Amino acid sequence: MADQFSIYVGGVGSAAAVTSLGAASAVLEKNQQPFLLIDCGPGVVEHYRERYQCLPGAVFITHLHLDHIGGLETLFFSRRFSAQTDLIKLYVPASLVALLCERVANYPGTLAEGGENFWDVFQLIPVLENFFVQGIHLQAIAVRHHAPKSAFGVYLPGYCFFSGDTRPVPEILSHVIDQRAVIFHDCGLHSNPSHTGLEDLLREYSPELRARIYAYHYLNEEQRQKIEAAGIKTLRAGSCLTLG
Ligand SMILES: [Zn+2]
Repeated sequence: MADQFSIYVGGVGSAAAVTSLGAASAVLEKNQQPFLLIDCGPGVVEHYRERYQCLPGAVFITHLHLDHIGGLETLFFSRRFSAQTDLIKLYVPASLVALLCERVANYPGTLAEGGENFWDVFQLIPVLENFFVQGIHLQAIAVRHHAPKSAFGVYLPGYCFFSGDTRPVPEILSHVIDQRAVIFHDCGLHSNPSHTGLEDLLREYSPELRARIYAYHYLNEEQRQKIEAAGIKTLRAGSCLTLG
């Protein structure tokens, strides 16, 4: 029987809605088993443990804003003081590795007892474009969020593209992403230099493309309802969708 893929979206909030709607993150599942957590903002590890009763075995980092990596210290401590012995695979776009070290792994004396490195519990896997998790082929695709090559979406070919934080990327959605794939797209009500707003989605994407989009990364329920009223599907925190 063919494998069944699904995606669980634990948090859908913008950086200003991490507490109310959860830090934006998602979990790719194969046959209902999680195989890749996308982003690890504050609260994500706790939420993941609640749902799956374990720590993530693999994490992809889309970019280095703290609402996407602020939970990595919790992940470090959780793994360090658990009975689990496998290293957690941390897939990081190669262009982000040095800055990630500075932001999360450069704290003097990772443990008070000393003698340990932040990276001791992780297997860092720098990613250029193609990468594999448990044999499953995925791609990291540069999107538009601040500096070039500083933010990446995750593509499960033929199934889904998770944009991460981004401005509209019509050139990618039209020419790189398979027409069968659904698209999980950054979208708040209003545009700004870092993020997509509703008017951007309506202007930049064709009706056919918009029909495959699920918007997330909004501020509150009122914004979600306005995005839906414009004909764009939205994700709520805790949504699980079957793919393909
Ligand atoms: Zn961001």
